[in-house]
Amino acid sequence: MAASGKKKIYLSPPHLGEAELKYVQDAFSTNWIAPLGPHVEGFEREVEQFVGARAAVALSSGTAALHLALRYLNVGPGDTVFCSTLTFVASANPILYVGAKPVFIDSEPETWNMSPFALERALAEAKSRGNLPKAVIVVHLYGQSADLDPLVQLCEAYGVPLIEDAAESIGATYKGRSSGTFGQFGLFSFNGNKIITTSGGGMLVSDNVEAIDKIRFWATQARDPAKHYQHSEIGYNYRLSNVLAAIGRGQLTVLNERITARRSIFEAYQETFGEVPGIVFMPEFPSSRGNRWLTAITIDPEITGVTVAEVLNRLEQEDIEARPIWKPMHLQPLFQDCEYYTHDEGESISDRLFENGICLPSGSNMTGEDLARVVHVIEKCLKKVVQI
Ligand SMILES: *Cc1c(COP(=O)(O)O)cnc(C)c1O
Repeated sequence: MAASGKKKIYLSPPHLGEAELKYVQDAFSTNWIAPLGPHVEGFEREVEQFVGARAAVALSSGTAALHLALRYLNVGPGDTVFCSTLTFVASANPILYVGAKPVFIDSEPETWNMSPFALERALAEAKSRGNLPKAVIVVHLYGQSADLDPLVQLCEAYGVPLIEDAAESIGATYKGRSSGTFGQFGLFSFNGNKIITTSGGGMLVSDNVEAIDKIRFWATQARDPAKHYQHSEIGYNYRLSNVLAAIGRGQLTVLNERITARRSIFEAYQETFGEVPGIVFMPEFPSSRGNRWLTAITIDPEITGVTVAEVLNRLEQEDIEARPIWKPMHLQPLFQDCEYYTHDEGESISDRLFENGICLPSGSNMTGEDLARVVHVIEKCLKKVVQI
């Protein structure tokens, strides 16, 4: 039993049902527990269809997907890769795996995602120094698409491949097109806390069928086509198993429902706190539609008289899990020597979002009662100072 005597409310717990069980039962009854099998292929084709990509490869994680995309783009020692700073560390770690160096790019206030202004300055400077990056990794934070048009245009103008880290944004759209299909590569994650999950897993998508075939080959231990085991390149054990792909196929059938549920949770929070001075909800950029994986807000302590730390503490006392917004990569000890480009010279947007940002419980299986409990705790924090 939780300390408050009440049921624990999690930030984003898995949400599985009958459809998943049906696919998993099939994997069991056909004894297809060996890693590869028909559900892996089925899952790949269904994700291709869902997002509108020509090719997809199912992998053991989103991190593995990004690692192999970087390898395909020939990123190595001495190279740089530009990456959104406001993200989870898995967006940047694969840059280190291949021996390259990340350069971090700030957010813009309109989307909280990569700032085209910062990217433009970074690209212009890199060009003048003669060391353009080997790739740009754009993250779609908390299920909300970045403003892709100017970012894509900049990458094209400078001839730098774009990778979309869509780990959090499957099912989100930008101008009607799926998140993850604008760059040379897009990756999704099916980790346990994401909007749909296979307990662990990922997918790399692209319109470059050859690239995905090559990556599938590397991910399957790079076996040369021979009866005996023969290898001429370094391979990885990065494929998704048939059982996990079975869960993924089931989850994909309910993805639209999950998005509807998460969006209505966001709206419920917004109805309660949307008008409170000093509280800002993560914006939904015009002509984009987020999956609202997590409801993220900022709380200005000067206006509300309440800090995010206080709200987090009060929620924790009531056995409610909430989290600060990701700590930007340029502030991480791991990346202390890396370059960083801000949105405006002298003003870092991501620092401010991190200072005042909080992610609220957003699970698609949250009940109305759960939601009321969360809202009540936050109201109590705010009532100290403002009338709502
Ligand atoms: C979850 C996540 C990843 C990593 O995905 P895994 O499947 O856990 O390896 C990468 N980038 C972002 C932004 C994420 O949120």
